[in-house]
Amino acid sequence: MASEVERIRHLRALLTRANKAYYVDQSPIMSDPQFDRDLAELVALEAKHPELDDPASPTRRVGGEPIAGFITVAHALPMLSIDNTYDEHQVREWHLRVLKGLGTDGDLEVPLACEPKIDGLALSVTWKDGVLERAVTRGDGAKGDDVTHAARVIKAIPLRLGDGGGSGLPKGRFEVRGEVFLPLSEFERINAEREQADDDLFMNPRNAAAGTLKQLDPKLIASRKLGFFAHGRGVVDEEGPERGHWDFLARCRELGIPTNPLASRVSSIDDAIGAITTFDKARHSLDYATDGMVVRVDRFDQQASLGMTSKSPRWIIAYKYPAERKTTRLLEVHHQVGKTGKITPRAVMTPVLLAGTTVQHATLHNYGRIRDAATEQEATRTDIRIGDEVWVEKAGEIIPQVVGVTLAARPRDAKAIRPPHRCPECDGPVEVEPPEAWEDPSLETSRRCMNPECPAQVRERLIWFAGRKQMDIEGLGEKTIDQIIAHGGIPLRTFADIFRLRSHREQLLSIDRMGERKVDKLLAGIDAAKARGLSAVLSGMGIRHVGDTTARMLARCFASYEDLMKADERALRPKSLTKEEARSLGMPEEPSQRAETGLGKETAPAVHAYLHSVVGKRTFADLASVGVDLSSREHRPASAAAHVPNTVFAGKTVVLTGSLVSHEREPLSRLLESLGAKVSGSVSAKTSLVIAGESAGSKLAKALELGIEVWDEPRLLEALSTCGIPSR
Ligand SMILES: [Zn+2]
Repeated sequence: MASEVERIRHLRALLTRANKAYYVDQSPIMSDPQFDRDLAELVALEAKHPELDDPASPTRRVGGEPIAGFITVAHALPMLSIDNTYDEHQVREWHLRVLKGLGTDGDLEVPLACEPKIDGLALSVTWKDGVLERAVTRGDGAKGDDVTHAARVIKAIPLRLGDGGGSGLPKGRFEVRGEVFLPLSEFERINAEREQADDDLFMNPRNAAAGTLKQLDPKLIASRKLGFFAHGRGVVDEEGPERGHWDFLARCRELGIPTNPLASRVSSIDDAIGAITTFDKARHSLDYATDGMVVRVDRFDQQASLGMTSKSPRWIIAYKYPAERKTTRLLEVHHQVGKTGKITPRAVMTPVLLAGTTVQHATLHNYGRIRDAATEQEATRTDIRIGDEVWVEKAGEIIPQVVGVTLAARPRDAKAIRPPHRCPECDGPVEVEPPEAWEDPSLETSRRCMNPECPAQVRERLIWFAGRKQMDIEGLGEKTIDQIIAHGGIPLRTFADIFRLRSHREQLLSIDRMGERKVDKLLAGIDAAKARGLSAVLSGMGIRHVGDTTARMLARCFASYEDLMKADERALRPKSLTKEEARSLGMPEEPSQRAETGLGKETAPAVHAYLHSVVGKRTFADLASVGVDLSSREHRPASAAAHVPNTVFAGKTVVLTGSLVSHEREPLSRLLESLGAKVSGSVSAKTSLVIAGESAGSKLAKALELGIEVWDEPRLLEALSTCGIPSR
């Protein structure tokens, strides 16, 4: 026992240190797998010792229940916008205005701080007495959305501040403003996933970060590894010794809050311009998108005496790098067929160096965007022909795209791009999807090969199914799939065919460079994959709108394929069910607890139609016949909600705040849940009851504002005694 308690303390300290080393000091002290192992051990130990509950434990990073919605809160200090410019000369003019404003012509020292401008989202984060209290988006600058649930799972944002080195832990509120961003590697991973699920791609990392931050489910947010850099000071109750921005950044790092390692402090405007120029060369090799350099007067006293205009501070300016655009020649257009049959035009160009990488391929989005145009101006964007001189840019500096054409330079023999009327791979029929009612009627959205046997689709589907994030079949990669298909004698068209490969061992051995060891390893990998469960199968099937996140959500709600098939279209978006309907399906009665299947009004009918289609039913039946397990690994029975105890707490959404003498918070939460309550972390219009102990703060205020019932501790004890729980 004692040693387990020790171990919990040790692991908490170690993992907190490891996070700081990774995010603040940029020098990791342990490997990712080791971190995950230690974290898993800590989770298990904490489950055995609920009395050691600590809201700042590193295990709290994995995400709790989804929140019901967003609350808008006012910023204590407005989050102002920054003037920006694309012109170096205007940065110098800004500096002259600064010197004039300070009443100096060079005799006063005006140090400047330069920081990369991250292409992310501004966020205000507040710690109270060192503990993370609240995070709010910039919003309109005066008020933003409370996204504390998201901040709690962003590992770069400490749940509890360190001791601040020399200056100590800040008492009261300590608010920083910073930038939340999505690392480019994560952006690419998420977009690859969305592409496979046939979802719309995020245009750039900023959109993806914004989309992530506005998710209600902390688990989904935690799964996308958002980063954070602090770059400004908000409300700070206890001033530290720092006299300027540069020192403030250092203090943030001492407290465990990451700041950008490429920031610098310079003493002249020439050096600031030098920093801007140097950084433009270096920034393309970073794992996050940047679009400029922020230059500010470093000293707080000088900032204060400069003040602000009606919309932005006078002591800060952002220089923005112009998006790099190159011209090159469009040589050819490939028509690519994806696993759901979607055909996408892809440009093949003369290679050109763009924003640090050589670019040869670019997306042309869809055929609807390539067309003759009514006006010359529009034509420079849409009337693209093979042989043309085209303009390429990187969207969010990542995905190369063709953005226009030089009409004047069009060669005589330029050829129009013809959308395929037959599938370029199988010659099957192609269907054009009409635009939605509100879209330009002349714009088609996408084109699909309607032949389900299309070999291009079959190949893409098999590759996807075997992929690491789906069925994770070891040894069955793209190359192996191509080799087996090329052999010709081994049937490999359906997912179930994969599991029948064992009966073709001899033929597999006849494939070039497929030795006994390799073949047996492949077959063992295939056998192992049979047990992955419903969510892996669902995400592997490549059903439109069902990526791995949605598949996992469905598997959480339904215990098996059979249960999933019993659900009608509305049950696939359980938020819309009545309490009675939910109970009959074994789901929680409380709609907010059912929200997480995530299927929307548009997607639920499509997914339902696929599941009940002849092809869909045959595919599942085939998989079951070859021994693939179709039961859910993630199912959470709604037992507590399905058999709601008849107590005063039944069906109530309860928020605990302040400290109670009689109960620790976490055990009390579990006790209330066992009595039929849903315990939530934040107060909203959906809260039915707030239990407020000593020194309750903002949650109590919010509850009073919304007119929600509030109980003090004696009232709670009385209610508990009516449920047969004696007070201690
Ligand atoms: Zn086809």
